[in-house]
Amino acid sequence: MILFANPREQYLSHKRVINKAIKRVLDSGYYVGGNELKEFEKEFAEYIGTKYSVGVGNCTDGLQLALMALEIKDGDEIITVSHTVSCTVSAIVSAGATPVLVDVDPNSYNIDPDEIRKAITSKTRAILPVHLYGQPANMDEIMQIALAYDLKVVEDCAQATGAEYKGKKVGNFGHVSCFSFYPTKNLGCVGDGGIVLTNNPVLFRRIRCLSEVGWIKKYVSAYNGINSRLDEIQAAILRVKLKYIDSDNDKRIKIADRYFKELKDCSFILPKISNDVKHVYHQYVIQCSDRKKLLMYLSQNDIIAGVHYPISIHRQPIYKKLRRGNMSITQRLTNTVVSLPIYPELDKNKIIKTIRILQEFK
Ligand SMILES: *Cc1c(COP(=O)(O)O)cnc(C)c1O
Repeated sequence: MILFANPREQYLSHKRVINKAIKRVLDSGYYVGGNELKEFEKEFAEYIGTKYSVGVGNCTDGLQLALMALEIKDGDEIITVSHTVSCTVSAIVSAGATPVLVDVDPNSYNIDPDEIRKAITSKTRAILPVHLYGQPANMDEIMQIALAYDLKVVEDCAQATGAEYKGKKVGNFGHVSCFSFYPTKNLGCVGDGGIVLTNNPVLFRRIRCLSEVGWIKKYVSAYNGINSRLDEIQAAILRVKLKYIDSDNDKRIKIADRYFKELKDCSFILPKISNDVKHVYHQYVIQCSDRKKLLMYLSQNDIIAGVHYPISIHRQPIYKKLRRGNMSITQRLTNTVVSLPIYPELDKNKIIKTIRILQEFK
């Protein structure tokens, strides 16, 4: 069986050091809010290049906390995409704001700056770009729009740990950025985990406080926060795996390069890489006009591909009434996207087989 993601193989490839890290935490007696978290927060912020970081329970909480810290109020509008996972949008609603959905660029599959401009109203407070599939969004244009209209920017970097835009890692562009360490992500733990980054000391203190039920000091609640923490075992595992993120991303890029080369004569639409970005291939997503047939054919050959995502946000039962722009690209992607197997441990024979099977698809 060839899977599109395989967190167990990632564990096995670092088994000895991960087991050691877990044992270290178990023996320490500190399971939440200890030294592993402190060190990981420092190491991850350093890796991305920001000053401050707050480990949280998951990226969805992180996005909510970022918006709460930006003092987003009832009725404030946040512009984001419909071609994403529900987490991006549920975080906005949980923070008390109103998502406004726009279409994506047909080449990068990321938020289309022209669509952002069209969606801006007097209520718009922030833009929430997603660096989808591991490819950075057009941050120059997004930051220009934000500056022109005095908007905040929160980056959803859940799929893009280590990705770069014009030589700088994503997570450095917006006022706040959020990452996910869900097991299948480029940097994954063995449960839920996330982190929020910023360069702003005021936002940093607010995010920390809001993530600890609004405590300004122990047991003193100054705000109504949430309870969202990155525990010691996850932090210890992430410290081990952070050392391998660049080489793991390089392995993903190598697999993607093979797909580009070997699939170029097939009928699929292959990913397009924007100018001046480092795409880290959280997913390698092709488009196929007869997706149902392709998925069936792949599974008959023991290849389990993914679909990210089968239902766009504006078609979700709870979100279909949200204000939105034209969704023609999103709609097309919803019907055609297929995520091929890609993860650092994917071995040569599995890649060769996947390519051969895809080449023989008719
Ligand atoms: C995975 C993901 C999230 C949510 O991350 P969690 O850590 O599971 O909350 C948010 N946005 C995007 C784009 C994601 O891929």
